[in-house]
Amino acid sequence: MSYQNNFTLHETIIHKMKFLKWLISIFTPQRSKTKMLNIILFGPPGSGKGTQAEYLIKEYGIIHISTGDLFRYEMGNNTELGLKAKEYMAKGELVPDEVTIGMLKNKVNANPDAKGIIFDGFPRTITQAEALDTFLSEKDTEVSALIALDVPEEELVVRLLGRGASSGRADDMDESIIKNRISVYNSETAPVFEYYKSKNKSNLIPGIGSKDDIFNRLTTVINAL
Ligand code: ADP
Repeated sequence: MSYQNNFTLHETIIHKMKFLKWLISIFTPQRSKTKMLNIILFGPPGSGKGTQAEYLIKEYGIIHISTGDLFRYEMGNNTELGLKAKEYMAKGELVPDEVTIGMLKNKVNANPDAKGIIFDGFPRTITQAEALDTFLSEKDTEVSALIALDVPEEELVVRLLGRGASSGRADDMDESIIKNRISVYNSETAPVFEYYKSKNKSNLIPGIGSKDDIFNRLTTVINAL
């Protein structure tokens, strides 16, 4: 076989392989390159959402939006929004939906190039969930999944009091405020799990064990999306 023939044969094989690869790709369900990975990290106060969010942003190159952190930032700067939020946070109650939703939208809009978002502490009510779905669909995207960390209530109280002692965070230092936050979670926030369950998007994983174990459970769910 001449050099020229050999070369043509080589070219033909490459073309066939490219065609085969393309054929496989159209029949293989996969996340399109432009599709965002939007995860709602869900669970009661003290379930470890913030800790796991830090690991997830490194693993997937996505951003983390915590409404609690945003409110604390505003409070620290004594802004109008911060002063309003403080009235509710100090009692362990939810900040009104319209305030929270507006703040969340601003933060998302400030990150137009994000490959994906971890929502931590949002949505916390059905109204917030509906607002999030509408907002994301206007951007041609959606919630990929909700993942809830399941932690027994006694463990939450121990963890939050421990966090309060080391951080000085006021709403973590008082047991009655902690109990109120957990009860608000049960009455107003837990229904959000059912809301996304009806859309086949809710997942529940154990939130106890080592940080690595929990992280592995999260990535198993995310990698299967
Ligand atoms: P935790 O999950 O430990 O309760 P966060 O930092 O997420 O802590 O929230 C602290 C407080 O901020 C809440 O108790 C509530 O007052 C307020 N907050 C945070 N996110 C929301 C939200 N999505 N809607 C209403 N209030 C919120």
